[in-house]
Amino acid sequence: MVYRVGVVGAGVIGLSTAYNIKDRIPDAEVTIVADRFSPNTTGDGTGGLWMPYMLGSTPTESVMKWGKRTWDHLIKILRSPEADAAGVSIHSGHILYEQKPEQDPFWKDMVFHFKHFTQRELDILFPGVKFGVHATMMFCLCLRYLPWLMQRYKAIGGRVMKQRLSSLDEIADLYDVIVACPGVRARHLLDDKEVYPIRGQIVTFTNPRSAMSYLETTKPDDSSDTYFLPSPSAEYIHCGGTAQVNNWNEESDPEDVKGIIERCTKLVPSLKSAKVVSTWAGLRPGRSSIRLEKEDKMIGGKLKKVVYNYGHGGSGITLHWGCSLEATELVRQSIAELQAIGPTSKL
Ligand SMILES: Cc1cc2nc3c(=O)[nH]c(=O)nc-3n(C[C@H](O)[C@H](O)[C@H](O)COP(=O)(O)OP(=O)(O)OC[C@H]3O[C@@H](n4cnc5c(N)ncnc54)[C@H](O)[C@@H]3O)c2cc1C
Repeated sequence: MVYRVGVVGAGVIGLSTAYNIKDRIPDAEVTIVADRFSPNTTGDGTGGLWMPYMLGSTPTESVMKWGKRTWDHLIKILRSPEADAAGVSIHSGHILYEQKPEQDPFWKDMVFHFKHFTQRELDILFPGVKFGVHATMMFCLCLRYLPWLMQRYKAIGGRVMKQRLSSLDEIADLYDVIVACPGVRARHLLDDKEVYPIRGQIVTFTNPRSAMSYLETTKPDDSSDTYFLPSPSAEYIHCGGTAQVNNWNEESDPEDVKGIIERCTKLVPSLKSAKVVSTWAGLRPGRSSIRLEKEDKMIGGKLKKVVYNYGHGGSGITLHWGCSLEATELVRQSIAELQAIGPTSKL
């Protein structure tokens, strides 16, 4: 028997989840329902660095499990002929700190070449900076990755429906299992008051080449940062940033843009000769912790199987593959529960 699965969301979370359900559960007929697709989802405007960031109190073990599966997935693509098409690349860079953190980041053994700068290196390269690390990281440029993954999803029979939902009630009759991946808009669509926007502004420059790719965290609590992330072939450089909590503005803000240009050119003076190619602002789906679980819920007057996968903060790209595999497992369990009840008494 075929089970109908509706995945709400076509961002990096929804699309990867829909892909894995379709790929791994032969009995499922999968449809993505969303009003925004690439290049208009949150991940599309970002540099796509693999690095856990702004995840509330999501347990570290879960972050490491989902992050490792995603890291391994990206490495597999990197080592395939598809790497360029998929927008997956690897770059070395630096993370500079205003104050020495109490401990190394928990993900330091996942990435490559993690090492502290010596005082001599700091004095020569970044005079005045107290502490810094060097690391080689994976990048996944959603602007390329999402169309690439969408093509693969459609090739295995995945379906797509463009629709703006004001409530899940509108699709209750269409699907046996609903998978909710609406990003920050879970606050309205699911009435989840734990979800809030963390607004980020980005300015993209032509890459002056002399600008090393690195990220500076200016405050110990990560609340404000200045970063440079290269595009896959390093022709552009994405500079940031802001982290404005509860700001729903998706338009570029001239003051933020000005601040980013000032901070970035101070750090890398050669950027002064680079051209601004574009500016973009997006909303990180902040939440107390990532919601990745299933429940039976009354929707449109019927008890439905619902799987949730949202609230990935500043790490949606970093964790997407691992989270999508876990959501797929929850869908598999939901379908098994429906099968156990039998076709006549389907929820
Ligand atoms: C400036 C900035 C920089 C970032 N940098 C990085 C980075 O370097 N690395 C990293 O890992 N992460 C980064 N992030 C975070 C990352 O981009 C997000 O965590 C991720 O993109 C969230 O993906 P999502 O699929 O959950 O949400 P979205 O991409 O927002 O997708 C939500 C989907 O749900 C659909 N939807 C929602 N509500 C409805 C509705 N009512 N009806 C129909 N459809 C609906 C939308 O149409 C859309 O398709 C950054 C974010 C920002 C803003």
